[in-house]
Amino acid sequence: MKPTITTYQYNYITQQVDDLVSAELSVNDKQVLAAVLAKILDRITPLLPMDEPVAQTFVTQLRAERLTRAKAAKLIAPLVPLVIPFPQLTSKQLEKLFRKVKKLKQPSWSAMHLHEMTYLGWNDGGSQKKYLVAPYQGRLIGIQGELAPQTVKGVCAICQTIGNVALFLSTTKSSGLGTYTKKGNYICRDSAQCNRQLTDPQPLADFLTVVRPQRKK
Ligand SMILES: [Zn+2]
Repeated sequence: MKPTITTYQYNYITQQVDDLVSAELSVNDKQVLAAVLAKILDRITPLLPMDEPVAQTFVTQLRAERLTRAKAAKLIAPLVPLVIPFPQLTSKQLEKLFRKVKKLKQPSWSAMHLHEMTYLGWNDGGSQKKYLVAPYQGRLIGIQGELAPQTVKGVCAICQTIGNVALFLSTTKSSGLGTYTKKGNYICRDSAQCNRQLTDPQPLADFLTVVRPQRKK
Protein backbone atom coordinates (compact mmCIF):
# COMPACT_ATOMS: atom_id res chain seq x y z
CA MET A 1 0.00 0.00 0.00
CA LYS A 2 1.44 3.31 -1.04
CA PRO A 3 0.58 6.09 1.43
CA THR A 4 -1.22 8.88 -0.43
CA ILE A 5 -3.47 10.49 2.19
CA THR A 6 -2.05 13.50 4.05
CA THR A 7 -2.41 13.73 7.82
CA TYR A 8 -4.82 16.65 7.58
CA GLN A 9 -6.93 14.78 5.03
CA TYR A 10 -6.98 11.78 7.39
CA ASN A 11 -8.13 14.07 10.24
CA TYR A 12 -10.82 15.47 7.95
CA ILE A 13 -12.04 11.96 7.08
CA THR A 14 -12.12 11.11 10.80
CA GLN A 15 -14.16 14.25 11.55
CA GLN A 16 -16.59 13.49 8.75
CA VAL A 17 -17.09 9.95 10.05
CA ASP A 18 -17.64 11.41 13.53
CA ASP A 19 -20.36 13.64 12.09
CA LEU A 20 -21.93 10.62 10.42
CA VAL A 21 -21.97 8.70 13.71
CA SER A 22 -23.55 11.70 15.46
CA ALA A 23 -26.28 11.76 12.80
CA GLU A 24 -26.85 8.01 13.00
CA LEU A 25 -27.15 8.20 16.78
CA SER A 26 -29.58 11.10 16.79
CA VAL A 27 -31.62 10.93 13.57
CA ASN A 28 -34.15 8.23 12.77
CA ASP A 29 -35.44 9.48 9.44
CA LYS A 30 -33.91 7.17 6.81
CA GLN A 31 -34.05 9.77 4.05
CA VAL A 32 -32.27 12.36 6.16
CA LEU A 33 -29.60 9.82 7.07
CA ALA A 34 -29.14 8.83 3.43
CA ALA A 35 -28.64 12.49 2.54
CA VAL A 36 -26.06 12.94 5.32
CA LEU A 37 -24.21 9.82 4.17
CA ALA A 38 -24.23 10.95 0.53
CA LYS A 39 -22.84 14.38 1.46
CA ILE A 40 -20.07 12.86 3.58
CA LEU A 41 -19.13 10.34 0.88
CA ASP A 42 -18.94 13.21 -1.63
CA ARG A 43 -16.46 14.92 0.64
CA ILE A 44 -14.21 12.02 1.57
CA THR A 45 -14.22 9.71 -1.48
CA PRO A 46 -12.03 12.10 -3.55
CA LEU A 47 -9.40 11.90 -0.79
CA LEU A 48 -9.28 8.10 -0.79
CA PRO A 49 -7.21 5.96 -3.17
CA MET A 50 -10.21 3.99 -4.42
CA ASP A 51 -8.04 1.42 -6.19
CA GLU A 52 -6.91 0.18 -2.76
CA PRO A 53 -9.07 -2.63 -1.31
CA VAL A 54 -8.97 -1.12 2.22
CA ALA A 55 -10.42 2.12 0.88
CA GLN A 56 -13.14 0.21 -0.98
CA THR A 57 -13.99 -1.82 2.14
CA PHE A 58 -14.11 1.37 4.18
CA VAL A 59 -16.63 3.04 1.87
CA THR A 60 -18.72 -0.14 1.53
CA GLN A 61 -18.95 -0.48 5.31
CA LEU A 62 -19.80 3.21 5.78
CA ARG A 63 -22.73 2.64 3.46
CA ALA A 64 -23.82 -0.66 4.96
CA GLU A 65 -23.53 -0.31 8.69
CA ARG A 66 -25.34 1.74 11.23
CA LEU A 67 -22.36 3.10 13.10
CA THR A 68 -21.47 3.53 16.73
CA ARG A 69 -18.34 5.34 17.93
CA ALA A 70 -16.62 1.99 18.55
CA LYS A 71 -17.58 0.59 15.14
CA ALA A 72 -16.41 3.78 13.41
CA ALA A 73 -13.00 3.60 15.12
CA LYS A 74 -12.61 0.00 13.93
CA LEU A 75 -13.59 1.00 10.42
CA ILE A 76 -11.09 3.87 10.22
CA ALA A 77 -8.08 2.01 11.67
CA PRO A 78 -7.25 0.08 8.45
CA LEU A 79 -6.82 3.42 6.62
CA VAL A 80 -3.78 4.36 8.73
CA PRO A 81 -1.22 2.62 6.43
CA LEU A 82 -2.52 4.84 3.60
CA VAL A 83 -1.53 8.00 5.47
CA ILE A 84 1.82 9.73 4.90
CA PRO A 85 3.02 10.00 8.51
CA PHE A 86 4.99 12.83 10.07
CA PRO A 87 8.65 11.71 10.06
CA GLN A 88 10.07 10.51 13.36
CA LEU A 89 13.15 12.69 13.80
CA THR A 90 16.27 11.68 15.68
CA SER A 91 17.48 13.81 18.59
CA LYS A 92 20.38 14.92 16.36
CA GLN A 93 17.96 16.14 13.68
CA LEU A 94 15.93 18.01 16.30
CA GLU A 95 19.01 19.62 17.80
CA LYS A 96 19.96 20.83 14.34
CA LEU A 97 16.55 22.53 14.03
CA PHE A 98 17.02 24.24 17.41
CA ARG A 99 20.72 25.06 17.39
CA LYS A 100 20.41 27.88 19.90
CA VAL A 101 18.67 25.75 22.53
CA LYS A 102 20.91 24.20 25.15
CA LYS A 103 19.67 20.85 26.47
CA LEU A 104 16.65 20.59 24.22
CA LYS A 105 13.88 18.63 25.88
CA GLN A 106 13.01 15.78 23.52
CA PRO A 107 9.41 15.03 22.57
CA SER A 108 7.95 11.71 23.72
CA TRP A 109 7.57 9.94 20.40
CA SER A 110 5.98 6.83 21.91
CA ALA A 111 2.90 8.85 22.91
CA MET A 112 2.48 10.36 19.44
CA HIS A 113 0.27 9.37 16.53
CA LEU A 114 2.38 10.23 13.51
CA HIS A 115 -0.50 9.65 11.10
CA GLU A 116 -2.45 12.50 12.76
CA MET A 117 0.44 14.97 12.85
CA THR A 118 0.80 17.72 10.27
CA TYR A 119 3.38 19.29 12.56
CA LEU A 120 5.30 18.24 15.64
CA GLY A 121 4.70 20.23 18.81
CA TRP A 122 5.72 19.63 22.39
CA ASN A 123 5.91 21.57 25.61
CA ASP A 124 8.73 21.93 28.07
CA GLY A 125 6.60 22.62 31.12
CA GLY A 126 9.62 23.37 33.30
CA SER A 127 10.71 26.34 31.24
CA GLN A 128 7.24 27.19 29.87
CA LYS A 129 8.42 26.69 26.34
CA LYS A 130 6.79 25.19 23.29
CA TYR A 131 8.68 23.74 20.37
CA LEU A 132 7.21 23.29 16.92
CA VAL A 133 8.60 21.49 13.87
CA ALA A 134 6.56 21.99 10.74
CA PRO A 135 6.86 21.72 6.99
CA TYR A 136 7.41 25.10 5.38
CA GLN A 137 8.17 25.58 1.69
CA GLY A 138 9.31 22.01 1.20
CA ARG A 139 11.44 21.57 4.32
CA LEU A 140 11.01 21.22 8.06
CA ILE A 141 11.62 24.28 10.20
CA GLY A 142 11.86 24.64 13.97
CA ILE A 143 10.00 27.33 15.89
CA GLN A 144 10.37 27.91 19.59
CA GLY A 145 8.70 30.26 21.96
CA GLU A 146 7.32 30.97 25.38
CA LEU A 147 3.96 29.46 26.20
CA ALA A 148 1.93 31.42 28.75
CA PRO A 149 0.93 29.32 31.78
CA GLN A 150 -2.67 30.56 31.56
CA THR A 151 -5.05 28.63 29.35
CA VAL A 152 -8.07 30.43 27.94
CA LYS A 153 -10.95 29.53 25.63
CA GLY A 154 -10.33 30.85 22.17
CA VAL A 155 -9.65 30.16 18.52
CA CYS A 156 -6.31 28.52 17.74
CA ALA A 157 -4.26 30.26 15.04
CA ILE A 158 -3.12 26.89 13.68
CA CYS A 159 -6.19 24.60 13.64
CA GLN A 160 -8.83 27.39 13.68
CA THR A 161 -10.85 25.53 16.31
CA ILE A 162 -12.24 26.93 19.55
CA GLY A 163 -10.56 25.26 22.49
CA ASN A 164 -8.02 25.60 25.26
CA VAL A 165 -5.46 27.98 23.87
CA ALA A 166 -2.48 29.77 25.37
CA LEU A 167 -0.46 32.75 24.21
CA PHE A 168 2.61 31.61 22.32
CA LEU A 169 5.37 34.20 22.00
CA SER A 170 7.77 33.08 19.36
CA THR A 171 11.31 34.11 19.94
CA THR A 172 13.16 34.96 16.81
CA LYS A 173 16.75 35.94 16.99
CA SER A 174 17.71 37.84 13.89
CA SER A 175 21.05 36.47 12.88
CA GLY A 176 24.06 38.62 13.49
CA LEU A 177 22.32 41.55 15.07
CA GLY A 178 21.30 39.97 18.34
CA THR A 179 17.89 41.59 18.38
CA TYR A 180 14.87 39.62 19.41
CA THR A 181 11.42 40.05 18.00
CA LYS A 182 8.46 38.47 19.69
CA LYS A 183 5.22 37.71 18.03
CA GLY A 184 2.23 36.56 20.02
CA ASN A 185 -0.42 34.14 18.83
CA TYR A 186 -2.99 32.06 20.65
CA ILE A 187 -2.55 28.37 19.85
CA CYS A 188 -3.74 25.09 21.39
CA ARG A 189 -1.78 24.21 24.50
CA ASP A 190 -2.05 20.53 23.54
CA SER A 191 -0.42 20.07 20.14
CA ALA A 192 -1.68 16.47 19.80
CA GLN A 193 -5.26 17.71 20.00
CA CYS A 194 -4.43 20.65 17.71
CA ASN A 195 -3.17 18.21 15.10
CA ARG A 196 -6.32 16.07 15.32
CA GLN A 197 -8.36 19.21 14.71
CA LEU A 198 -6.19 20.36 11.82
CA THR A 199 -7.96 19.68 8.53
CA ASP A 200 -6.66 22.60 6.46
CA PRO A 201 -2.90 23.26 6.18
CA GLN A 202 -3.27 26.90 5.09
CA PRO A 203 -3.64 28.56 8.53
CA LEU A 204 -0.51 26.65 9.68
CA ALA A 205 1.40 27.97 6.64
CA ASP A 206 0.18 31.52 7.40
CA PHE A 207 1.20 31.14 11.06
CA LEU A 208 4.67 29.94 10.05
CA THR A 209 5.09 32.87 7.67
CA VAL A 210 4.60 35.20 10.62
CA VAL A 211 6.65 33.41 13.26
CA ARG A 212 9.50 31.78 11.33
CA PRO A 213 12.99 33.07 11.95
CA GLN A 214 13.96 35.67 9.40
CA ARG A 215 17.35 36.89 8.51
CA LYS A 216 17.70 40.65 8.51
CA LYS A 217 19.29 42.05 5.43
ZN1 LIG B 1 -4.99 24.22 17.47
